[in-house]
Amino acid sequence: MTCPTTEAWAAWLDGAVPSPGREELAQHAAHCPLCQATLQSLRQVDSSLARLRPQPVPADVLMRVRQSLSPAAGHTGWPQIMTLEEVGRFMQLDDRQLDEIVEDLPAFELAGQIRVRYARLLEWIAQREREFTHQRTGSWVGRPTIGRDASSYSLKFESA
Ligand SMILES: [Zn+2]
Repeated sequence: MTCPTTEAWAAWLDGAVPSPGREELAQHAAHCPLCQATLQSLRQVDSSLARLRPQPVPADVLMRVRQSLSPAAGHTGWPQIMTLEEVGRFMQLDDRQLDEIVEDLPAFELAGQIRVRYARLLEWIAQREREFTHQRTGSWVGRPTIGRDASSYSLKFESA
């Protein structure tokens, strides 16, 4: 008897081969080292698959996955709720500069601490962008000087 295919052995292991084929295969398996190896591999695959049954996911893991998948979190590595220090680093402002805008920030107080929600901060920045663009497309010509802060832009107003 030539060696049965792996598919045949898989069917045999599943008890899906009827007699007399079933007995013939059993006899072959008893004497053929090659097919014994095949059978061993198949049994290993079976037990691996059995271990892959869905496991309940712990609640805290689920929560962290949901947080990391939310559009606001993205893959930026910034937390959903930011401290002022983190806001400063995020916007590349030093403490003094941060002090100047802290009143305008979409912040809230929590146990005596100021916190800013990352998603709200992005909205706030977008709003400022719109305002700034609107200002620039106003009455003046000339472009902002790169590398300076907004107050030192050389504004050249059109002399009408
Ligand atoms: Zn064989």
